[in-house]
Parts: sequence; C-alpha cells; structure tokens
Amino acid sequence: MQKDIRSIIIAIDGHSSCGKSTVARDLAKLLNIAYIDTGAMYRAVTLFALRRNMIIDGKINEEQLLESIGNIVIDFRANPDKKVNETYLNGEKVEDEIRSLEVSNNVSPVSALGFVRKHLVALQRLMGEKGGVVLDGRDIGTVVFPNADLKIFMTASPEVRAKRRYDEMIAKGFSPSFEEILNNVEERDRIDSTRLESPLKKADDAVVLDNSHMTRQEQLEWILDKIKEL
Ligand code: C5P
Repeated sequence: MQKDIRSIIIAIDGHSSCGKSTVARDLAKLLNIAYIDTGAMYRAVTLFALRRNMIIDGKINEEQLLESIGNIVIDFRANPDKKVNETYLNGEKVEDEIRSLEVSNNVSPVSALGFVRKHLVALQRLMGEKGGVVLDGRDIGTVVFPNADLKIFMTASPEVRAKRRYDEMIAKGFSPSFEEILNNVEERDRIDSTRLESPLKKADDAVVLDNSHMTRQEQLEWILDKIKEL
C-alpha cells in the first residue's frame, strides 16, 4: 500500500440494510480510523422533524423544517462501554430512537429534500476532509467525496437485507413483522434511487461488493485487499 492510512477516505455506498455500517465500523476499528454513519445523520433530522410534528401521515412541512435546519446539531460521541460511536441530536443521545421503524418509514422522503442534503453534506465534508476516515451512505462516492481513495458499492438481495434488519430489530427489543421490514427496504431503495437530489447510484469508479452470501469477516478481508492495492 502506497497511501498513508491516516489520510485516506473510504466511501461505502449502497442499498438499504445491506450491512454497510457493520463493515464500515469493523474497518474503522481495525485500521484505527474514524467512522461517519451518514444515514444516522439523515435519521436524526427525521427524528427531529417527527418530534416537532413537522411530519404528519408522511407529509413533511418543508417550510418549518427549512426554518429549523440551521438549529439541528448532530455529532457522534464515543461510548467507551460499548466501544462504539453514538449519534447525538442537539446534545441528546438518540442512537436507539433513530433506528425505529417510524424513523425508517419517514427518512427517505426527508433525505430527498435539497436543503436537508445541503446541510448534512457540508457537515460530512467538514467531519471527513482531513482523511483517515470511512463514511457510509448513498452519495458518498458520487457527491460528498467524489475524490475518495476507495469507493465501494454494496448490495445484497432485498430478502437477505430484510432478514438482517429484522434480526437486528428483534435483538433491540422492537417487534416488527418481516413483511413490514421488506416493504420498508424496497420502498427506501425506490425513493433513494429515483429522487432528483443525489440519487443512489454506483459511482463509475466504485467496486461492487455483493455480500448476499458472504460472512462479515469475508467482507472485511475483501475490502482490506482493495485497500492494499491503493
Ligand atoms: O444508511 P441508513 O439506512 O441508516 O440510511 C437511512 C436513509 O437515509 C436512507 O434510506 C436514505 O434515504 C438516507 N441517506 C441518504 N444519503 C446518505 C445516507 C442515507 O439519502 N448519504
């Protein structure tokens, strides 16, 4: 490897619930670099809007959200016990709340709003510009860091992805139905790929990682091999 790991930017984009954050977190830990979960940032904005009744029956009050967007402060703080970073919204830990199905069901329309993306992309660039970082999301390799050193586009079949999200939610104490999760995964893919603002698409220079039949360790090794080639 020629490049200094402390200055590289790794972009992991792809479909909903295909394990981007798991592999990104594993990678960050192994390489001792930072991890930025950009999906958590869109989820935090969605939670903010839901709590203030700016989303009623899926309809977003864009005017109100636009007015408050400058007051939404999102950061990640280390939890030394769990050895992970957790998401904070205006100083409050919201790591669990942002994973609820209510947030999942509303996050894609919120993420399609140009002013929301502008605000969060600026924040993501600020957080990651120094390098030594892995970011996961939908537009990292295409918009946020088009010059990223390594771009990975992750995917897996919708059923495999829904099963993983289902298991994860059950483990967290939620009780969703599998059908509900599968619908959410497919609907988010549809909205994310067809929106006008920064749609989810593979960057031309991204490498595809289909992890439908790969273990967590195999995915990590696959990415480490790509890093060695940098
Ligand atoms: O990654 P995660 O599934 O938590 O992301 C939640 C939602 O946030 C996605 O379905 C997508 O609508 C949005 N998102 C986005 N751009 C990103 C990251 C997430 O639009 N960079």
